Amino acid sequence: MKYFIILVLFLGLVGFIQAQSLGLGNPRVYKISESVYAITNLYHTFRYGWVNAGIIFTANSVIFIDCGMTEASGEFLWETASQKMKGKEKIYLILTHSHSDHIFGMNVLKQKGAKEIAHELMIDFLKESGEKYKSSLIKELNWSQEKGDSIFGEVKLSPPDIVVTKDRILKINGEDIYILTSPGHARDQLSVYYPRTKTLFASDVIYQGGDPTTFFGGPEEWKTWINELKRLKVMDIDIICPGHGNLCRKDEIDRNIGYLQGYINGITGKVKKDE
Ligand SMILES: [Zn+2]
Repeated sequence: MKYFIILVLFLGLVGFIQAQSLGLGNPRVYKISESVYAITNLYHTFRYGWVNAGIIFTANSVIFIDCGMTEASGEFLWETASQKMKGKEKIYLILTHSHSDHIFGMNVLKQKGAKEIAHELMIDFLKESGEKYKSSLIKELNWSQEKGDSIFGEVKLSPPDIVVTKDRILKINGEDIYILTSPGHARDQLSVYYPRTKTLFASDVIYQGGDPTTFFGGPEEWKTWINELKRLKVMDIDIICPGHGNLCRKDEIDRNIGYLQGYINGITGKVKKDE
C-alpha cells in the first residue's frame, strides 16, 4: 500500500471520478509524463475488477491503447485526451487483444477518425457484429437486455486499418512506439512500449496484484507467456500500466512469472499423480 501511495505521488493523479457512473467505473487518470497518460479503474463486469487504458500524445497525433469495456469508457478516454488536444491531431487506436473488456468502447474512437491497429489474428473477430458479442455476454451474465444496453452502450466492432503480424515499430511524428506481439493470455495479445518515457502498456501480459487469467490457454500457452515476460524483463522499463490493477514496476514481472510457473507445476504435477 505504502509503495502504491509513493507511486501515485510520483506520477501525479490528475483526475479521479468520485461517483461511480453506470458503465464507466471509477476511472483514475495518471499523468506519467507531459505526453503519456494511464487510465485505470474503468468499468468491468467482474465485480472486483477494473480495466485500464493508455494515451500517448506526440507532436501531431494521439495514440490510444485500448478503449475500455463500454461506450462510456470510450467517451471518457476521448474527453480526457480532448483536454490536451489542439484539434487537428491524427488519432490511432491500438487494440491489445480481442477480449471485450479492452475493445467494447472502440466505436467512440473510430467515430473520431481513429486508425485502428490490431493483431492479424483479431481480424475475423473484429468483422463480427459487436452487438452479437454483446448479447452473448449479456446472456452469460444473466442480465436483461435493458441492463446490458445501459451499461455497455452501443458496441460496434470494425476490422483494423493497420495489421500487426510480428513486433513492429510505429513511427509517428519522429517518435518510436513499439508494438510487441506478446502471446500467452491470448494468442492475439499485443503490448506497447514507449521508449521516450520507458513506459510499458502491458495489457493482460501482466496482472498487477492479482492472479493472471489463465483460462484462455493451457500449459503450452502459459510457457509461451513466461517467455514473453522474460523478454519484457530485460527491457529498459520504468513504469508499467497493466491491463488490470494499479500502475507498477518491473518487480511485478517476476511475480507473474512465479505465479505462472507455479500454476504449470501444479497442473502437470496433478496430471502425473492422476496417471
Ligand atoms: Zn483484460
